Amino acid sequence: MNLPERFGENVFNDSVQKETLPKEVYTALRATIEAGKQLDTSIAGAVAAAMKDWAVSKGATHYTHWFQPLTGLTAEKHDSFIEPDGDKVIMRLTGKSLIVGESDASSFPSGGSRVTYMARGYTAWDPTSPAFVKDGTLYIPTIFVSYTGETLDKKAPLLRSMTAVDRQAKRILKLFGIDCKKVSTTVGPEQEYFLIDEEEYSKRKDLRLTGRTLFGAPVSRGQELEDHYFGAIKPRVMAFMRELDEELWSYGVLSKTKHNEVAPAQHEMAPVFSTTNVAVDTNMLTMELMRTVARRHGLVCLLHEKPFEGINGSGKHNNWSMSTDTGLNLLNPGAAPEKNTLFKLVLAAVVKAVDDYQGILRGSVASAANDHRLGANEAPPAIISVYLGDQLGALVDSIVKGENYVTGTAPQGSIGVPESPIFPKDATDRNRTSPFAFTGNKFEFRMLGSQANVSDANICLNTIVADAFEQFADELEGCKNFTEAVNGIIERELKAHYRIIFNHDGYGPEWEAEAAKRGLLNHKNTADAVPLFYEKKNVDVFVRQGVFTAAEAVARADIRLENYTKIINIEALTLLEMVKQDIIPAVSDFVADLCQNLAAKQAVANLPCETETKLIKKLAELNDKASASVEKLEKHLKKINLHDFKKASQDMAHIILPDMEEIRKYVDEMEKLTSSDYWPFPTYFEILYNV
Ligand code: ADP
Ligand code: MG
Repeated sequence: MNLPERFGENVFNDSVQKETLPKEVYTALRATIEAGKQLDTSIAGAVAAAMKDWAVSKGATHYTHWFQPLTGLTAEKHDSFIEPDGDKVIMRLTGKSLIVGESDASSFPSGGSRVTYMARGYTAWDPTSPAFVKDGTLYIPTIFVSYTGETLDKKAPLLRSMTAVDRQAKRILKLFGIDCKKVSTTVGPEQEYFLIDEEEYSKRKDLRLTGRTLFGAPVSRGQELEDHYFGAIKPRVMAFMRELDEELWSYGVLSKTKHNEVAPAQHEMAPVFSTTNVAVDTNMLTMELMRTVARRHGLVCLLHEKPFEGINGSGKHNNWSMSTDTGLNLLNPGAAPEKNTLFKLVLAAVVKAVDDYQGILRGSVASAANDHRLGANEAPPAIISVYLGDQLGALVDSIVKGENYVTGTAPQGSIGVPESPIFPKDATDRNRTSPFAFTGNKFEFRMLGSQANVSDANICLNTIVADAFEQFADELEGCKNFTEAVNGIIERELKAHYRIIFNHDGYGPEWEAEAAKRGLLNHKNTADAVPLFYEKKNVDVFVRQGVFTAAEAVARADIRLENYTKIINIEALTLLEMVKQDIIPAVSDFVADLCQNLAAKQAVANLPCETETKLIKKLAELNDKASASVEKLEKHLKKINLHDFKKASQDMAHIILPDMEEIRKYVDEMEKLTSSDYWPFPTYFEILYNV
């Protein structure tokens, strides 16, 4: 494959636009994309025509507005380009069909934003994310709004949050005498996933219906040898990765790094970062391609956050920064951060934002699946804290304590670390336990779940940082002595929010106790974390930054709780079905056979049968206990009113999940004692070591 030539071959990208569009149309379109100028709709006809011709030359017959409803997935509805022309057809895409589409919104979750009789929803073109051709269809990235203008998707608020950062960051930059057209937030999402054999997958009802295993005794060899991480990649996985890369590159996705992860059968793909909305779109596409390419190799790609208990789950590290169209990264400390006032102010804004809004930042990554990672002694904890690393940590300490900042003395080299001039990766990356870590010239928000649409976290992050910028800009604009004022803000805010900074091990129980002392929040599950979105202060910040109306903010929290409730309900029902229809009968059969053997032995020669006797007793007991717990779970489940999702979500977290865990305990114990000839589902060993 000639990579440079084929890279982005399926994308209506800048170079194709330049080639195919009339010059003034191209210029107008780029002004919207690069400088955030209002789209000149009179160019839509010309863009649509060029896009269609290009797509048809790539074999496309259809187009679709591609959007991201609140299901967390992507949605598409395909229309062909055909238009009757006598007894023939012509291929056509009008400017209007490029810009707006109409869609029945009634079957998408809206959290009550839209009353059902007003089912009209509109999709509107997002020209800042390029269209592409896939499977004979032109995909046009769009936003999705209701008839009354409320947002029904994750894209519109994401774009609004980016606009908020742009607006406020430019005010800050202006104060420093820096002029630019646009400040964009950037994201590089590192994507973790599991690959397992299709055959084993197809035999696990739980994996198929819920994405995770609801049972499974630990394997005798998990990840304790730590030999999978960065280990040699198996040929079958390599073939998958190669094909995935080729597909990703053809869609212009900057797939850069691939490697084995910590757990057996776990892997990671990291792309080069891009503007946030493009990063979101390409991440959604990446997840979809991972699933479809895996199938071609007889594999199934699991994107669930915790498909297997006892080994690492999967997350998505959201590397995040802000930069100007002139190439200035606002989080680049430079060679002498202590003298870089702009950097220190930006840092103070981020630290302040993360501390002030730790609750919703945590809530923005909360989901039923991610709960199995966060707060479960796995990377990272449910407590939000900021890791700055040694050098930056020392700088902040010096500001807060009013001491002189001593730049680290270098044992070799000049600036403290031999390999690299400033804040080298190994100074910060050594700490893998922090949920929000400064890594060189960006922050890495590590709490996101592997299957999440990264919009949610970025909407929140952008909004709260924009809000801190706004407060600073309000204060600084028109102040008498700028230097004094700006240094005053840096010192004041770092002091006020010092508690959120934690430069040590985030996994240990000591941190939980220490964090509690500092008054930091520690919500371990979605049911407890999401209600923070209802608090006035948290609604207000979205409203103030023009990202959500109050109704939208509340509707989104409703959807999260409703979704959480539904997911646990499905898991509980699946678990009940598996235990009642498959596991209890299988164990009972095995016990019956053991009894027969025992009887036969006794009848023939009164042979010793202590083994059988013990096993029969133990399994019969466990099976009874499992049955009793099943009855308890059924009783509890019956009492839950799913429509009252606020109460139901609490019950799911605090009653149903513990019930499910109790059943699992008995089942996993039985699995270890039951002959594999009888066990109805593939075990962890069979699933994890069969690729
Ligand atoms: P690692 O964390 O493995 O050491 P890097 O720090 O180079 O690797 O990058 C991790 C991810 O961060 C990559 O996806 C990279 O593109 C992304 N990244 C790098 N710089 C930025 C930035 N300014 N904004 C957002 N993401 C970035
Ligand atoms: Mg990382």
